Amino acid sequence: MEGRVRAAQIQAIFRFTPLVLAVNCANVVVILLALRDVASLLTLAAWALFPVTLVLLALNSWFRSRKQPARPTASPGAFRRATAHAALLGVAWGLVPLLFFPRLGPQEQLVVATVATGMICAGGFALATVPPAAIAWVASMSLMSMAGILMSSVSHRALLGVLLAGYSATVLRSVLGTAQLFIDRFRAEADLEERRQVIALLLAEFEENGSDWLFELDDQLTVMAPSARFVQASGVSAALLDSMPLTDLLDAASGRELLSRVRLRKPFRDLDVALAGDLATTRWWSLSASPMFDESGAIAGWRGVGSDTTDVRTAQNEIAWMARTDILTGLKNRTAFRERAAEVLVASRVSGEAVAIGCLDLDYFKSVNDTLGHAAGDVLLREASQELMRFADEGVTVGRLGGDEFGLLFQGHTSAGQVQILAERMIERLSRSYEIQGSSVTIGATVGIAFGHEDGGTVDELIRNADLALYRGKETARGKAMRYSALMLRDAEERRAIKEDLIPALRRQEFVLHYQPIIETATRKTVAFEALVRWQHPTRGLLSPDSFISIAEASGTIVALGDWILRESCRQAARLPAHMKVAVNLSPAQLGSSRLNQVVKDAVLLAGITPDRLELEITEALLLANDSVTMKFLHEMQDLGIGVALDDFGIGFSSLNYLTRFPVSKIKIDRSFVSGGASHVHRSAIIQAVTGMAERLGFSTTAEGVETDETLAWVTALGCTQAQGYLFAKAMPAQDIPAYLAAEFIAASESNAAGQSEDRSVGRVIRTAEFDVAR
Ligand code: C2E
Ligand code: CA
Ligand code: CA
Repeated sequence: MEGRVRAAQIQAIFRFTPLVLAVNCANVVVILLALRDVASLLTLAAWALFPVTLVLLALNSWFRSRKQPARPTASPGAFRRATAHAALLGVAWGLVPLLFFPRLGPQEQLVVATVATGMICAGGFALATVPPAAIAWVASMSLMSMAGILMSSVSHRALLGVLLAGYSATVLRSVLGTAQLFIDRFRAEADLEERRQVIALLLAEFEENGSDWLFELDDQLTVMAPSARFVQASGVSAALLDSMPLTDLLDAASGRELLSRVRLRKPFRDLDVALAGDLATTRWWSLSASPMFDESGAIAGWRGVGSDTTDVRTAQNEIAWMARTDILTGLKNRTAFRERAAEVLVASRVSGEAVAIGCLDLDYFKSVNDTLGHAAGDVLLREASQELMRFADEGVTVGRLGGDEFGLLFQGHTSAGQVQILAERMIERLSRSYEIQGSSVTIGATVGIAFGHEDGGTVDELIRNADLALYRGKETARGKAMRYSALMLRDAEERRAIKEDLIPALRRQEFVLHYQPIIETATRKTVAFEALVRWQHPTRGLLSPDSFISIAEASGTIVALGDWILRESCRQAARLPAHMKVAVNLSPAQLGSSRLNQVVKDAVLLAGITPDRLELEITEALLLANDSVTMKFLHEMQDLGIGVALDDFGIGFSSLNYLTRFPVSKIKIDRSFVSGGASHVHRSAIIQAVTGMAERLGFSTTAEGVETDETLAWVTALGCTQAQGYLFAKAMPAQDIPAYLAAEFIAASESNAAGQSEDRSVGRVIRTAEFDVAR
């Protein structure tokens, strides 16, 4: 910077060089003419040589500087040279007053004084931009002039000296001020220039690399000289865009928005506008602009930046869509469904329109997923969604709440009956067989329904209650639509309380086993006892397994409870007559752990009974899952000689065929076939089919739920080898068994001719019973 300032300073004096040199020459002539009579020609010539040489030198360097392009910087040396030159020239001119002034007459003195004064001032200002040179010039000339004046005999010479000093000082003061102004201005200009260059650079960069464009509008928002990028973004030709109102490019709403912003006469930023054109391919711009004002303060136009934000918007919309949509089915996801339901619910409060929320769950979906794999499950979910979406026309909004559970939002149906019918039509539509990956699978569905305002005030409450109704429906009315009732909530709360109480109850030994006899139909004698668990609850009383087993299964507590039941029933078996078995119910959840076989073996060993005294009751659900762990377990039990009975046969997926594939030794025909449900003829046919099959395979068959003598006679005739039911006994506490067996023994003895053969084992049981009671 220093160098550049110096170069500019020196350059500035060169501008005056021709004039200065001309003045020098003219003044040399003036002096020679004025003094030619006073001084000798030789003296004058000798003096004139001095300034003329310096003028020629200066002329030479001036010419040189003109031929070369201006140097951007100048060294301090150039400054020193200029100063030396000025000093020498000053001395050359100072010689005139110094040498000649005292000797001159008044007229000549006037000429010399005028020339000297003029030269001091003119030279000082000509050299103003290089202060050292100016100082050297003014100082040398002033001092020498002053000496000349003081040496003369002019009257008032002291006063003249003071005047000269004052002039010189004033000249120097102005020169220095001018020099400083010059430097400041130069620096400011250089600064501005630099900024201009940076901005130009940035703009070039922006135009080249960015996707944004600059634009300029006049006060009517007409596009002025659009850049290539602006033209490209606009999609119209440059000729058309130039002098086209910007609002013509935008759609009506965006145009109005832009006009309302412009009317504020203030800069605006990131105004989102849509381009006119077809809706599906709408492009979006973001505009920022500032107004330009003319001298009168009116808006002359606008300058700003525009960018195309279509892609960003599209991506944002996509993300928003994804956050609200279930990707698998394309349905609303839980969040979106809840939001929509909340809107409708709020609106219904004003309109009075009825709103209901349904939770729909696919029946048997899990087994499809487990057996055919997740891909098949996904296909099934998609097909089911398609079916559900058909009901959109009937005022049903469908969402996927998760897994195989769907949310239904019913609008515009005035009565509960209407909703119920619609929900059941949806179930019907879903309940069919689907062709998936070459296999045919059949599913069903169950729906729980909760009505807005009546069954809950908020969406969350309604969904929870519809869910409770669904839960209940799954247990008691699969394939139906069930409406929520307040009882269900109480029920659910009770289930929660029970769930939390299970483990402490196990620790406090609140569970007890009751035993129900199983009778051989041929002899009417007890051959086994089924262990049935009860919970002696401190406040609720004796709870039946129906009220807690499913909860224990769901929470996993069944594993610990099941272990205890196995040990306890084996212990009981040891106290029964040797030919009697104990049957123990197993939950599918217990088989989930591979250590079950060890638990069974330990229980048998600990009780000291032979394995054939134990019988395990399993359900079909377990066999359906058909995994290797179950198969391995069943075979191990078979190898040990532990019997396995298939419980509740007939109510599940019962296929007689698959019985042959499993190592099962007994079938228990469900109560509903023995004492209720379908017509007598129908039931007979089924029971007969089972007993016939069992006979061929060497299974025994137990008829459950035998309550009357007629039923006993009937199932016996149909071929059931064993029976169980209230006709013989309800499940009883262990301490009641001896009395029961004793009574059975006495009854048998009475019906046989009195005093015939004594049944040894029963006799022993009676003795055991007496012993127990005595103890
Ligand atoms: P289940 O294995 O089918 O047991 C037979 C159920 O039918 C018992 O109900 C029994 O009291 C009842 N019952 C027996 N004879 C008759 C009759 O003539 N008429 C009628 N109406 N009912 C009769 P309980 O004890 O309430 O057991 C219900 C279910 O709880 C059992 O059904 C079984 O699935 C489960 N359960 C019971 N104890 C256990 C257990 O220790 N472990 C497991 N995992 N489940 C158990
Ligand atoms: Ca059972
Ligand atoms: Ca059963």
